[in-house]
Amino acid sequence: MGAFDGLVVLITGGASGIGAATARRFAEEGARIAILDRDTTNADPEFTARTVDITDDEGVRAAVRSIGDELGGIDIVINNAGIGAQGDIAANPAEEWLRVLDVNVVGIARVTSAALPYLRSSAHAAVVNTASIAATAGLPQRALYSASKGAVLALTRAMAADHLREGIRVNAVSPGTADTPWVGRLLESAEDPAAERAALNARQPSGRLVTADEVATAILHLADPRSTATTGTSLAVDGGMQELRLRPE
Ligand code: NAD
Repeated sequence: MGAFDGLVVLITGGASGIGAATARRFAEEGARIAILDRDTTNADPEFTARTVDITDDEGVRAAVRSIGDELGGIDIVINNAGIGAQGDIAANPAEEWLRVLDVNVVGIARVTSAALPYLRSSAHAAVVNTASIAATAGLPQRALYSASKGAVLALTRAMAADHLREGIRVNAVSPGTADTPWVGRLLESAEDPAAERAALNARQPSGRLVTADEVATAILHLADPRSTATTGTSLAVDGGMQELRLRPE
């Protein structure tokens, strides 16, 4: 018996990186998986997948409804899809601010509100939002991205308060730099990818990047029907980056 036997888990951004690892782990624990992603080319063909951009109101509503109908409900929503942005406060044009906030913040509202009727009728309803170390630590050249992830943390607490009495738990996971295609793209665009990777490794007290699977483990814990008293919180998976101060070796 898996911890998620028979439960339906909807994962945004489930075709790559942390979302794909999370989908696999839920499936191993008996869940039925539905993926919402703007690019489902690499989605595991065993999972139900819908190609939709989470900034598309009508598209999201239609996709969530069709998943709920096809799989007979939705018990768990993993709001994982997100995009990055680099630069200080002056670097990004207004359209980019609006686009990143639309994906990283409003996307969570769109997907979760479309799924609410299903969550309300589940006995094990849970939502997990993906925040970031950038929400709680001041990182250079990440003004817009950090603002979006800070909003994810605030939104997580507000959602948890609103839906507690309906039996829907809402939590967040806060990864440090994780070794996914996202970071692969970041490294490719760096002048010296090897030096950039070494700098990212060194920024974490653990001396290495977080794996997508480690983040998935935390997401499964937060969504687990046995984590009944856990709501409105954020779980860091960052190799100690937020809380620890080690002396140099
Ligand atoms: P990734 O790029 O490998 O995967 C992101 C997935 O989201 C992709 O499949 C992409 O197609 C999908 N997506 C992006 N925008 C979308 C949209 N508008 N509509 C639908 N789908 C969309 O990245 P990842 O590293 O797995 O990141 C997943 C989440 O983890 C993101 O929210 C990211 O901010 C967060 N995060 C990542 C890191 C890291 O270092 N990789 C660190 C902290 C937080």
